[in-house]
This record gives sequence, structure tokens and C-alpha cells, in this order.
Amino acid sequence: CAKKQGSAGYRVFDPTMSNPAFKVFQMETDLRRSLQHQDFQLYYQPIVSLDTGKIVGFEALVRWKHPLRGLISPVEFIPVAEETGLIVPLGQWILYEACRQLRYWQTQGAIARDITMSVNFSARQFSQPDLIEQIDRILAETQLNPQNLKLEITESSIMENTEIAAAMLHQLRQRHIQLSIDDFGTGYSSLSYLHAFPVNTLKIDRTFVQRLNGTPETLGLIPAILSIAKTMGMSVVAEGIETPQQLEQLRALSCDFSQGYFFSHPLAAQQIEELIITAPEW
Ligand code: C2E
Ligand code: MG
Ligand code: MG
Ligand code: MG
Repeated sequence: CAKKQGSAGYRVFDPTMSNPAFKVFQMETDLRRSLQHQDFQLYYQPIVSLDTGKIVGFEALVRWKHPLRGLISPVEFIPVAEETGLIVPLGQWILYEACRQLRYWQTQGAIARDITMSVNFSARQFSQPDLIEQIDRILAETQLNPQNLKLEITESSIMENTEIAAAMLHQLRQRHIQLSIDDFGTGYSSLSYLHAFPVNTLKIDRTFVQRLNGTPETLGLIPAILSIAKTMGMSVVAEGIETPQQLEQLRALSCDFSQGYFFSHPLAAQQIEELIITAPEW
């Protein structure tokens, strides 16, 4: 923090401003208040079938509408929400809102019945003993079919407590809720755990996709991930597609789905409605 010379003299250097613990505390206070005022908004990014070129689902991505700082990225506040436990009430709001929105689009006839909503889940949310009851309640309240819901979890969040995670994931699958592993390839990279978890989809982390420039040398681990998924009966979403070359390379490999700025940035609900009315096809 810079010392400032103002007309009223000078401000004394405030050591707390550069103190990370203070920043976390400040953010925690702000997050609590924003939870009460519901100062959060979900954006939605389309997930596209590479086979048909059509939208098959959306991923809900939360933004914080900070009263002073404007829209704040989840990269900034989700770690603090996790650290402070605020991810639990925030996560409940996110799940409710995402289910409510998809159900609303269904009842408006804006989308086909098989379109899914993917919702990110933190490790901390899995440690709630009543998580399954919460999810059941939200599905009942919003009247969303469980098959339309996909939960995105990371490798590290299941590896944190493999037994609880496996039991939880099985209960979710019994309800026909779908499960994806997010950021696949960046975590433990241990394949042995995949057998233990009833996962439907692997999402290839965008760092793999962003190296693709049209030449075979840039494919890296992508063909291996696709073949593992095929062997295990899982589908694959490639994240972070930004160029037509990346799209063509993934299509040539018969990757199932993809998501990225090339198709659409994450958008507010109303902008999604404007997009889907044009029935885009890539
Ligand atoms: P994620 O789940 O892997 O989500 C994908 C991120 O990649 C999103 O960032 C999205 O905007 C971004 N993205 C999509 N396409 C492209 C592309 O073509 N290029 C680039 N450079 N980026 C692309 P976002 O929205 O900032 O979210 C970041 C992360 O924050 C998410 O990564 C997820 O881990 C976390 N997050 C977001 N929303 C939630 C939530 O509701 N709950 C929880 N627990 N975590 C969330
Ligand atoms: Mg995700
Ligand atoms: Mg991801
Ligand atoms: Mg992520």
C-alpha cells in the first residue's frame, strides 16, 4: 500500500491493509452481509454437443455483486467462502437458484427436456451430513427432475475423504443425479480412484485444450483421457475452447461435448434466453 499525500496532510501507513489475514476477515464480513442480501448472481455457460453442434446443457457459475466493487470473480471469493465455511449456505443458494432457473426455462418451453444444469460443488459441501436431504429438498421445491442436474466435483475433493465421498456419490447416483469430475488431469492424476466412484463425465481441464493449435503434437494427454473415459463408459467435456482449430481437433477425436468462449462466455439468464431463441448450431 502506498502512502498518500492529501490536502489534509498525510495518511499514516496502515499495516492492516496489506495483511492477508485482514483481507480475508474483511471479505468474510462482506460475504456474510451479501448472503443476507442475496448479492450473488448466477451466470450460465452453454455446453455443446460436438456431434450435433447444439446446446445440451449449461454450467452455473456464480458471481458476487459486491455493493462497492461490482462483479467479483469466483476465483477471488470461493476460496474464502470455503475457508470460512460460508460455502455451505452459499452453495445451497447456488444449487436452489440453478435448479429453479432450469426448471423455469423448461416450463417456459425455452429448452428441451433433456438439457442439463451443471453445478460446481466444493469439498466442504460434501462434509455436510445432511447434504443428500438438502439436495432432495431443493429438487422437490423446484420440481426439477434429478436427471437434469449434474454436480461438478474435483478430484481433490473426493480424495480428501474417499469413503464418505464414495458413499455420497452412490446416493446421488441412486437418485439419477449425474456427476462430473471437473478440471480432470490437473489433480491427483491417479486413475485407480476412478473405479471407486460412479462418475458419468470427465471434464478435461482447459490448460490441455488451450495448447491445441491444429498440430498433432499439441494433443498431449487428450487422446489418453478420451480413451480412459470410453473404456469406463464415461463421456467427456473439453473445457476452454476458444478457437475453431481447437473445435475441429476435438471433433476429429470424437470428444463428446465442449464448452468455451468460442461458443459463448458465461451469460446472465436473460442473455441466455436471447441466445437460445436463435437455436445456435456450431
Ligand atoms: P470451473 O468450474 O472449471 O469453471 C470454468 C471456468 O472457466 C469459468 O470461470 C469459466 O468462465 C471459464 N471459462 C470458460 N470458457 C473459457 C474459455 O474459453 N477460456 C478461458 N480462459 N476461460 C473459460 P469462472 O466463472 O471464473 O469460475 C472459476 C472457478 O470458480 C470455476 O472453475 C469453479 O471452480 C469455481 N466456481 C464458479 N462458480 C462456482 C460455484 O457456484 N460453486 C463453487 N463451489 N465453485 C464455483
Ligand atoms: Mg466447473
Ligand atoms: Mg473446470
Ligand atoms: Mg475449477
